Amino acid sequence: MELEKLNLKGLEEKRPIVIAGPCSAETEEQVLSTAHALADRGVKIFRAGIWKPRTKPGGFEGMGKDGLPWMKRVKEETGMLITTEVATPAHVEQALEAGIDLLWIGARTSANPFAMQDLADALKGVDIPVLVKNPVNPDLELWIGAMERLNNAGIKRLGAIHRGFSSYDKSIYRNLPQWHIPIELRRRIPELPIFCDPSHIGGKRELVAPLCQQAMDIGFDGLIVESHCNPDNAWSDAKQQVTPEILDYILSLLVIRNEQMTTENLNELRKQIDECDNKLIEILSKRMRVAREIGMYKKEHNMTILQTDRYTEILEKRGAQGALCGIGSDCVKNIFETIHEESVHQQMEIINK
Ligand code: PEP
Ligand code: MN
Repeated sequence: MELEKLNLKGLEEKRPIVIAGPCSAETEEQVLSTAHALADRGVKIFRAGIWKPRTKPGGFEGMGKDGLPWMKRVKEETGMLITTEVATPAHVEQALEAGIDLLWIGARTSANPFAMQDLADALKGVDIPVLVKNPVNPDLELWIGAMERLNNAGIKRLGAIHRGFSSYDKSIYRNLPQWHIPIELRRRIPELPIFCDPSHIGGKRELVAPLCQQAMDIGFDGLIVESHCNPDNAWSDAKQQVTPEILDYILSLLVIRNEQMTTENLNELRKQIDECDNKLIEILSKRMRVAREIGMYKKEHNMTILQTDRYTEILEKRGAQGALCGIGSDCVKNIFETIHEESVHQQMEIINK
């Protein structure tokens, strides 16, 4: 991809680049009072949804183009840059006409190559920064593909927004972060700025601060956070919005670490990691030796290799132990599934000898 800097009035010189504002533009009063409160606290880019993709019909689907003059007023009165979500060529046309400075593309749209191509065609020849949210499903290629369509149409000022991935399983998150996906995106396209949307990942206020910190620790460039002057009464996504005051407090507590720094301390810590890894390999090799001995025993006693009850017990116990030690139980479960697979493999070799 051929990329250029986002060029947002120099805002990208300092991490994080902050975009904030309500999920939806509801009334002129709500938009302006939220915008002024954010601007007073130093926010320089204002977001608000004008067209809202809702799961079911009948909910509030956004003010549509009637809300655009309110965004214009925000820009005139506060000097903030303004951004909104576009999902169709008609949205693009109306947003550009209203002087929107920055566009974002939502998670449902980025999952649809036809819609992405329509948007790319509508943006041909337009020089505007565009941020692309990850598709709702955890598919990095689809996310990159969506950005490539825009890039092929000449959009060089591109950014990505990580807003988590939907999952049928229950979790504390509204959308699972699956951090390895944006991390892989960074590895694949290092010059692409990445924003985190803690509001849609978390789905609840309490998770906004820790998710912002995690995103900064991973080295993300920016944050896009939902903020509303009266969150409890928001017409959409009420549970995940924070007041401008709370947002300001959350941002003031963020610790921004310089990812480039390679200090002696870091080298020392890396040595400790090397030692831990060596010990892990030693202990794994010991575990495999014992597994082979068990294989011999099973062979001598004519037993099957796979003893399902024992396997289930191992996965459950280790998962719980891991959780007690602060390791995600899924992570521990995955590790033990892999270890068990190798043990079975080694025992098969013994039995078939
Ligand atoms: C939003 O940002 O308000 C939004 C609808 O987000 P997403 O596309 O991530 O669901
Ligand atoms: Mn929202």
